[in-house]
Amino acid sequence: MYALNYVKVKSVTEAVDLVAANPEAKLLAGGMTLIPTLKQRLARPSHLVDIGGLAELAGIEVKGGRLVVGAGTKHHEVATSAAVAKSIPALASLAGRIGDPQVRNMGTIGGSVANNDPAADYPAAVLGLNAVVVTSRREIAADDFFKGIFATALADGEILVRLEFPLPKAAAYAKFPHPASGFAMAGVMVADTDSGVRVAVTGAGPGVFRWREAEAALGKSMAATALEGLALAAGEFNEDIHGTREYRANLVRVMTKRALAQLAGR
Ligand SMILES: Cc1cc2nc3c(=O)[nH]c(=O)nc-3n(C[C@H](O)[C@H](O)[C@H](O)COP(=O)(O)OP(=O)(O)OC[C@H]3O[C@@H](n4cnc5c(N)ncnc54)[C@H](O)[C@@H]3O)c2cc1C
Repeated sequence: MYALNYVKVKSVTEAVDLVAANPEAKLLAGGMTLIPTLKQRLARPSHLVDIGGLAELAGIEVKGGRLVVGAGTKHHEVATSAAVAKSIPALASLAGRIGDPQVRNMGTIGGSVANNDPAADYPAAVLGLNAVVVTSRREIAADDFFKGIFATALADGEILVRLEFPLPKAAAYAKFPHPASGFAMAGVMVADTDSGVRVAVTGAGPGVFRWREAEAALGKSMAATALEGLALAAGEFNEDIHGTREYRANLVRVMTKRALAQLAGR
C-alpha cells in the first residue's frame, strides 16, 4: 500500500466535505473490496474517509410500504434481520450467500452497490426489486443507477445513504456461485411487484441487466414453461476460463427456473 491519510468521520456531512476538498480521497466502508485494491496498488487515494459505523448509515426498518436498509448495513445483518426475513425473505437469503463469514461480517450493502461488481449479488436485488437508491444528494431509481462494469450513476463525492425496497408480492433469488469466491457465475432475482414481473440478472454479463423477454412472458404466466424458446442474447456475456458465453446463458435460464421453483414453493 502507498502512504495515505486516514480519517474516521463522525457524520455524512463531514465525509461529503472531506471528499469535496480532496478529489483523490476514497470512501471506506467495510473495506472488503477497497483494501485488497489498495494492497495490490491498483488505487492510490490521498485520503481514506472511513464511514464505517456511522449511525446515519445504519438501520433496517419497514416504513411506508418499503424496506429501508442503511448503506452501512453489513451483509450478515441483512441475512439475519427479522424485518428482512418477514418483508423480503429473498433479500435475506441473498445476503446470507455472499462470500464467506468474514466478508459478510465486514462488507456493507452500500459498498457493494456503489462498487457494482458485475458478479455481485446485491445489484440483482436492487434492480429486480425496483429499489430506490438514496444518496447524500438525491434519489435514483434502480433502472437509472447501474451503468455497466463497476460504473454507477453516483457522481464524485456522492455518498450512498440508504436503499429503499418496495415490498414485492413475492420474490426469489437463485445463484450459481463461483466455487472459490462465492461471487455469482449467474444470479437471477425474479420479483412479482406492483409494477409487474421483474427479472434481474447478475454475473453473466458485463453488468446487471433486466431480462425483458422473460419479464413479459412471466407477466402472462409465472411458470418455467413460459421461458421456453425465449430470446437471451449471449453475445455480450462474459467468457473466461470459468465458462463460455453459451454456458453462462444456459446458467441464466436454469437460475431463472430455480427462482420460479422457489416461488412455487418447490
Ligand atoms: C473473498 C471475497 C468474496 C466475496 N464474495 C462475494 C459474493 O459472493 N457476492 C458479492 O456480492 N460480493 C462478494 N464480495 C464483495 C463483498 O460483498 C464486498 O463487501 C463489497 O463488494 C464491498 O463492500 P464494502 O463495504 O467492503 O466496501 P468497500 O470495500 O469499503 O468499498 C467499495 C467501494 O465502494 C465505495 N463505497 C463504499 N461505501 C460507499 C457509500 N456508502 N457510498 C458511496 N461509495 C461507497 C468505496 O469508496 C469503494 O470504492 C466478496 C469479497 C471478497 C473479499
